[in-house]
Amino acid sequence: MSTRGMAIEAVERYFDAGEFRTELATRVAVPSSSREEEHKPDLFAYLDDLMRPRFEAMGFDVHIHANPILERAPFLVARRIEDPSLPTLFCYGHGDTVPGEEGRWKDGRDPWTLDVVKDERWGERWYGRGTADNKGQHAINMEAMRHVLETRGKLGYNVTFLIEMAEEMGSPGLREFCFSQKEMLKADLLIASDGPRLAADKPDMKLGTRGCLNFRMRLEYREGGHHSGNWGGLLANPAIVLMHAITSIVGPKGQIKLPALKPEHMPNSVRSALGGLEVVPGPDDPSIDPWWGEPNFTAAEKVFGWNTFEVLSFISGDPDKPQNAVPPFAEAICQIRFVVETDPDTFLPAIRKHLEDNGFDGIVVDTMRQSMLGASRLDPDHPAVGWASASIQKTLGVKPGIIPNSGGSLPNDIFLDMLGMATLWVPHSYAGCSQHAPNEHVLAPLMRDGLRMMTGLFWDLGEDFPRA
Ligand SMILES: [Zn+2]
Repeated sequence: MSTRGMAIEAVERYFDAGEFRTELATRVAVPSSSREEEHKPDLFAYLDDLMRPRFEAMGFDVHIHANPILERAPFLVARRIEDPSLPTLFCYGHGDTVPGEEGRWKDGRDPWTLDVVKDERWGERWYGRGTADNKGQHAINMEAMRHVLETRGKLGYNVTFLIEMAEEMGSPGLREFCFSQKEMLKADLLIASDGPRLAADKPDMKLGTRGCLNFRMRLEYREGGHHSGNWGGLLANPAIVLMHAITSIVGPKGQIKLPALKPEHMPNSVRSALGGLEVVPGPDDPSIDPWWGEPNFTAAEKVFGWNTFEVLSFISGDPDKPQNAVPPFAEAICQIRFVVETDPDTFLPAIRKHLEDNGFDGIVVDTMRQSMLGASRLDPDHPAVGWASASIQKTLGVKPGIIPNSGGSLPNDIFLDMLGMATLWVPHSYAGCSQHAPNEHVLAPLMRDGLRMMTGLFWDLGEDFPRA
């Protein structure tokens, strides 16, 4: 009779014997940088040479599908159907990385060679491109699943595992591919891992993501600048008018003034999930400005439970060579990060109407290309959330933090809204991992705990699959 404890012990032995390190080193050695065209063969090699045999050895059916938008970045779909009447788990990972940035790593380190460095606090740090984002994370999930399979002989549910190869380019083709394969990809629950934990020493789960809309506000009065001595006081200054327009939308402490750009209220389930969460900046992070943002909100409520408005850039005249002139135009690139309670399609019409109602004529408000990412969130009261939280607590002895949606962005709406599954993101990295810079690394104890935690989750799923 095999048990949960036996599966977890097996995965601990696997890690402690150095086998997971060898596995990750093999994956890191493939320079699968998706933004650089010359790495096209590496994108294919990662799927064909590494992923295919591993999934096939676990009894998965593997297909590599063409990407309808970006030819060099195909999709791998591995499926293991134990019984069509059983529920289906969906897993996701991305095998591509950002560019290696060779020559810019500390101590002459090669980004494509896993380098283990002793560390006082964490025991070991493992350096290498893709260790955190995302090879190490989906490696953990695959290896945990393999240990459940080898211990129990079966999973007790079906699995669809999707690996994409262009996440670092904004996932071109993912939405189209998933839409065209909607039937095949249908599943009940997604469990995947990407990004950092909120705090390195505490596990957490994210149930979705905020959305993001970038747009331009531009006010152009005339073709060129005009001498401010002769014309100042006579010609309207577009920089001053645009600044006033923006400050009528967002206040001096960053609070959104226009009601149409923020939720009416925060759902109770979200507020109570955020109740125990602290946002603690790491050693390399900036310190938080407590006076900034929506008044009377906690830091977690501000960044995870609400909308924010940013001015990303503002230009008028020539900042390098200021002229004694009334400038001809002013332009601001702005951004709204939003939660699911608000509809991004209403933002720009509301801003235009507000400007018109307040006499700010002539400001053109328009979107930019590829400027929108949807918001999505699984309700914290969904049974999968309590189920996963209990499983993680049983394995690690700690209650995981529950973050209704991450502050940043993932194409989670594809899975939650388009494919209709519950979504749980369980990260195995931490904020200081340098995932898009030289010196990307992971922490050995987080890898080990990740393997244990995922083995527990994948085991428990075979006994008690949470359904809405
Ligand atoms: Zn990334």
